[in-house]
Amino acid sequence: MIRFCVLGTGAGGAPTLRRAPPAVVVRLEGSVFLFDCGEGTQRQLIRARVSRRKIDFVTLTHLHADHVLGLVPLLASMASDKRQEPLCLIGPRGLAELVWKTLRWVDVELPFELQVRELETGFQGEVCVSPQWILSCAPLYHSIPCFGFRLQERRQPALHVERLCAMGVKPGKLMGQLKRQGWIELPSGERITLEQVSSFRPQPTFVYCGDTRPCPTAIELARRADVLIYEATFASDRAFLAHETFHSTAAEAAEVAYAAEARRLLLVHFSSRYDTEEPMLQEARAIFPHTDIAQELVWDEIIPSDTLDDESQPLPDPNAEGGQPIAGVSLVQRAHQRPGQPGTAHP
Ligand SMILES: [Zn+2]
Ligand SMILES: [Zn+2]
Repeated sequence: MIRFCVLGTGAGGAPTLRRAPPAVVVRLEGSVFLFDCGEGTQRQLIRARVSRRKIDFVTLTHLHADHVLGLVPLLASMASDKRQEPLCLIGPRGLAELVWKTLRWVDVELPFELQVRELETGFQGEVCVSPQWILSCAPLYHSIPCFGFRLQERRQPALHVERLCAMGVKPGKLMGQLKRQGWIELPSGERITLEQVSSFRPQPTFVYCGDTRPCPTAIELARRADVLIYEATFASDRAFLAHETFHSTAAEAAEVAYAAEARRLLLVHFSSRYDTEEPMLQEARAIFPHTDIAQELVWDEIIPSDTLDDESQPLPDPNAEGGQPIAGVSLVQRAHQRPGQPGTAHP
């Protein structure tokens, strides 16, 4: 089950009394992800009852001030905590330099391993996988390189136990072996594969887009997402401003959700020009009825449906390694390694 809490719904660097800068925290099967880290995110984490010690991944959509100004203070607090567990930072090119230089200037030594995975501009694909989830990204269309992220829970396919029993496979060792290796051999010599005796189960999917104009990659990233968190900096009365500043209106956000066949749309990143989100909500719901304004500090969840779904979708790769970076991102890491700085440890 994916649980998430929007920590900030404002746009621009300055927090207001009503809205904090962008950040969303997500819990999934023992892993904690922080998407974006605006100024004051630490206080919002406390209010959301999330211990910063538990955060495993900090994932930044882009390096605009409103999305990153809380990051170094968060790292400094983790250093004060004498954190020992490694932390993984994911974000656009330039993230490593921003972090290391600022930490050096403010004289903070990290007692833990900080792994920085920079995404090549335009990179699209899987960023990190574990047996429980897949984190992937797609480039968006903003004034500087910016990414959206898709976090998908991996659920084992559902075994048709009755069919297996009829074949003489009783619940127990053989079934476990079938799940693990993807096939078994019956005493008769007949070989049975997992695909023959299982159904795909829906994979709960959470998508968080950074600042962007509507674009095909955002739609693809959000394809059939259970929850899409997407920016609505303006209502259509300021469509020209949205265009000029590479942001979206609420109506455009709704069009993305509609085109992507998302199940729910949550709007965030509201300009301080608006005292109320009502205009954004109205225009978005006219296009995509399953729209809500994200509420700060309210926990929400995506509950996996156990309805069997026989659509011929690919089964999870049983050979995937837990928590290991995969091909596309390793490549990016190598491309950004700097002499004398392995990219996985404090210099
Ligand atoms: Zn922003
Ligand atoms: Zn921005």
